[in-house]
Amino acid sequence: MSRFSELIKSLLNEPNQSRKKFLQVSGRTLAVGATGGLLTSYRQNQSNRPGSAAMQADTVPRITPVSPPAQIPAKVDEPIVLEPIRSDYDRQTPPTPSPQPPDARVGYAVVGLGHLSLEQILPAFGRCRKSKLVALVSGNPQKMQKVAQQYGVKPQNCYSYDTYDKLKDNPEVQVIYIVLPNAMHAEYTIRGAQAGKHILCEKPMATSSADCQAMIDACKAAGRKLMVAYRIQYEPRNRYVRERVRQKQYGNTKMLELFNTQVEANPSHWRHIRALAGGGALPDIGLYCLNTARFLLGEEPTEVFAYQYSTPGNPLFREVEEMVSWQMRFPSGIIANCGTNYYAHESRRYRVMAERGWMNIENAFAYNGQQVQISYAEGQVEHRSEEEIAEKDQFATEMDHFSDCIQQNKQPFTPGEEGLQDQRIMEAIYKSATDGQPVKLPVYTGIDIFRGPEPQLG
Ligand code: NAD
Repeated sequence: MSRFSELIKSLLNEPNQSRKKFLQVSGRTLAVGATGGLLTSYRQNQSNRPGSAAMQADTVPRITPVSPPAQIPAKVDEPIVLEPIRSDYDRQTPPTPSPQPPDARVGYAVVGLGHLSLEQILPAFGRCRKSKLVALVSGNPQKMQKVAQQYGVKPQNCYSYDTYDKLKDNPEVQVIYIVLPNAMHAEYTIRGAQAGKHILCEKPMATSSADCQAMIDACKAAGRKLMVAYRIQYEPRNRYVRERVRQKQYGNTKMLELFNTQVEANPSHWRHIRALAGGGALPDIGLYCLNTARFLLGEEPTEVFAYQYSTPGNPLFREVEEMVSWQMRFPSGIIANCGTNYYAHESRRYRVMAERGWMNIENAFAYNGQQVQISYAEGQVEHRSEEEIAEKDQFATEMDHFSDCIQQNKQPFTPGEEGLQDQRIMEAIYKSATDGQPVKLPVYTGIDIFRGPEPQLG
C-alpha cells in the first residue's frame, strides 16, 4: 500500500485528523484548513474547554445547549476516496468535498442585502457543505426579488424589516445571519432570538458593550446559539500562524504589530454616521487588529494606550474618527502595536516577532490573498520562506462551522462573549485616546477564555 493510501486510510479512521497533516505528510507544507426577559447572572462553563484556567473575573456566561441536532444521513460527511494518480513526491489533491444533502443542511436567512451580502456571503453558499440559503430580509423589495431569483429563494421566504418577526413561523430557517449597519445588530439579534432562531452576527457585534450583553442574554434566554462572524479566526493562513505562536515554534512571542488601513470615499454612507456605525476606523477595520492579536495569543490585554486623529475639515470624519493608533499590554509582557486609518491606502498586515524568528502576513485581513512569510535563525543561517497554504472561502468556512455547531449542539468558536470582549476593549481604547492616559482592563488568566472549543474545519 502506498504512503498516500495509508494516509487516506488513517484519515478515515481518525475523524479529527486535519487535512493539513494529510498534506504535510505528503511532503509539502501545503496546509488546507489548519489546524424580552433577560438573564443577568453568569458562570463560566469550563467543562468543555480543556486547558482553560479559571478566570479572576466571573463574567463569562455558560452557553446553554440548544436545539436537537439535524438528521444527517450516516457517513455522508466522509470523503469519497479515489484511487491515487500522483507520485507521493508531487502535491496531492485534497480529499474530495463531502457536501451534505440539501435536506440535511442548516437553512439561513440573510438580513441586509448590501455589499457584504451580495459580493461575499450569498456567493459563498455555493461553496458551503453544511449551510444553505433559504430566506432573505431586505427593505428593498425590487432588489430582493432579483436576488431571490438569482439564488433560488422562494417568494414566500422573502421578508421585509416589518415582517421580520414572522421568520418564527418558518421552520426552513434555523439561522439568521445579520449583515446590517452596526447599530442595528443588537435589535435584529434580539428579535431573531425571540423568533426562535440561532444568530450569526457580523462584526462589530454591536456599538456598545451593554448592547452586546443584551444580545448574549437574549440568545441565552431563548436557548439559541450566537456567533460573531470573525472570519479571520477560521482562515487557514491566520490559523497556521496562530498554531506556530502557540507551539512557540520560534521561541516566545515578544511583540506584535498589526495594521489595517483603507481609503473611504462616501461621507453619507452609514459608516460615517456615528448613530449607525458606533465609531469610525476602529470598530470597522481596526477591530481586525484587536481581535487577531487576541486570537493569536489567546491572552487578554490588561491595559491599552491610544491616540486618535481626524483630518480637520474632511467631511468623511465629521462624526467618526479617521485614525486610531493603540498599544495593548498582555499578561505575558507581550505588547501589540496596532493602527487603523480610514484615509490611508489599503494595507492589511501584521507581524509576529518571536525570540528566534518572525512571521508576517500580507493581506492578513482581506477576503483572500493572504501571504505568509517566515524568517528564523538556525545557528549562523537565517532561513526565509514563503509558506504555500491553500486558500479557502472564509465565509463558507465560518458558516459551515456555525452549522456544524447547530447540528452537533456545540458552542461556536467565536460566541457572543468574544464580541463583547472586543467591544469592552474598544471602549477602553477610546477612553484612553480621549483622556491621554493608559486604561487598565480586567485581568483574566487562562487561554482562549472567551472562545468555544477549537473548530473542526472541513
Ligand atoms: P452596506 O451598506 O453595503 O449594506 C448594509 C445593508 O443594510 C444595505 O442593504 C442597507 O440597505 C441595509 N440597511 C437597512 N437599514 C439601514 C439603515 N437604516 N441605514 C443604512 N443601511 C440600512 O454595508 P456592508 O458593507 O454590507 O456591511 C454590513 C455589515 O457587515 C456591517 O456590520 C459591517 O461591519 C459588516 N462587514 C463585515 C465584513 C467582514 O469581512 N466580515 C466586511 C464588510 C462588512
